[in-house]
Amino acid sequence: MKPSPRPRRVRPVLSLVAAAVLAFSAPALLTPSVLQAQALPNLGGTDGEELSPLMERRLGEQVMNNIRRDRDYVGDPIVLDYLNQAGGVLLSSSPEARGDAGYDFMFFAVRDPSLNAFALPGGFIGVHTGLILASQSESELASVLAHEIGHVSQRHIARMIGNQRQDALLPLAGLLLAVLAARTSPDLSAAAMMGGTGLAAQRQLSFGRDAEREADRIGLNLLRGSGFEVNGMVAFFGRLEAAGRSRSSSAPSYLRTHPLTTERIADIEARIRNMPYRQRVDSLEFSLVKARARVLQDDTVQGWRDAKVFFTEQLQQGVRAQVMGAHYGLAMIALRQKDVARAGTLLEALHADVARETLMPSSPALVSMDIEYSLVTGKAEQALALATEGRNRFPLSRALTMQYAESLLAAGKKEAAAAFLRDQSQLYRQDAGVQRALARVYAEQGKQALQHLALAEYYFLSGALPFALEQLRIARTSPDASFYDQAIIDARERELQAAWQEMMAQTKKR
Ligand SMILES: [Zn+2]
Repeated sequence: MKPSPRPRRVRPVLSLVAAAVLAFSAPALLTPSVLQAQALPNLGGTDGEELSPLMERRLGEQVMNNIRRDRDYVGDPIVLDYLNQAGGVLLSSSPEARGDAGYDFMFFAVRDPSLNAFALPGGFIGVHTGLILASQSESELASVLAHEIGHVSQRHIARMIGNQRQDALLPLAGLLLAVLAARTSPDLSAAAMMGGTGLAAQRQLSFGRDAEREADRIGLNLLRGSGFEVNGMVAFFGRLEAAGRSRSSSAPSYLRTHPLTTERIADIEARIRNMPYRQRVDSLEFSLVKARARVLQDDTVQGWRDAKVFFTEQLQQGVRAQVMGAHYGLAMIALRQKDVARAGTLLEALHADVARETLMPSSPALVSMDIEYSLVTGKAEQALALATEGRNRFPLSRALTMQYAESLLAAGKKEAAAAFLRDQSQLYRQDAGVQRALARVYAEQGKQALQHLALAEYYFLSGALPFALEQLRIARTSPDASFYDQAIIDARERELQAAWQEMMAQTKKR
């Protein structure tokens, strides 16, 4: 398929954040030889100079706060659920997955057609939508996730940036703030962007040969332990390598961050020679998530037109898994274009496809679209029944959990929706989406003080402190703010003010 004829969308924050991390760690990254000599002194043990796991996590969280605000961050809960579910399967397969530091992991997607995946400090692993689309099996995609897990668990990133003085880490928040400020000044950000794309592209965190080999070894163990096909890694890396050799404009950027040599592929082949061959049937969810990623990757009019052409070709080719993906993708576009009748027909076709499959159980993505369809056609009770059943079947799905709350609200059960979301906010304290949904329910209930309190938490969790403080001020002046609410607002304001002042102090230090 030809790329759509539109200007390449610039991605300021992502490249600038990468640049910021790099600027911070520049001395160790100047030359590959320095990098190997200093940052990866001994790959097995600890040398006391690496970044502490706590600092690494804080650094990663700061970078993530900025990424989450970028328009190219894919906040789509179905895609997030899928990546984290697949990552979770890999992580639970072996105690070595989380490393000695016992990392927590979070997988996310970035809207970008190029083939790449990357690990940030602290266990945050990003995958480009282009890489999801290029993976021909679930095992191929899992092999990339597994390899990135290896980089984190073996502390390659911590070592790479860890040779800096620990106290030099603190000003990073300030640096990131400066980067964001630069965004509002066109001249500055244009200059920064040129520096960002040129420099960051060349100096993206790139690992040495030993680190790559070690990440491959861990990755293969995780793949094998969790029932994926180990050949997936060879197949995918082989294709990436071939694409890199072709020197076309679509050469995978993955190769820059993860130097891939024929030697490395030979190493992987040698390792899997003694592993038993295993064939694995891809889940229905994989086909649907791939179709979803295609629609999300380019949500312009031209992008959807291209996606429709692609899906139509898939229907003509008639491969079962791809036909299901195509029906799903076309239904998704129809829903977004408010062509409800067409969406209904396509969903019916998809259900007929699925009914013919014996090996494939249902999938959260399918249930989620059924709920969405019920909601747009005004069948709130049906949506609620589907969401209730879906949550029973897929209790870990965040997408279905949020749709359950949405269905409660649509069915007029405002009190139940508020209570459910309050419970969720206790269970998932870092989930900004829960607070946003809670604010919406309070708004429908006409509870102004609580609405703005929830919005304050939403902005706080999204890393936008000034907006959070503004919402607290609005909450305070709300006519329905009780004495009890005022006490909560006061306490929260003191905490957020302190956090803000700490951040500003760090900016000045630079
Ligand atoms: Zn790598």
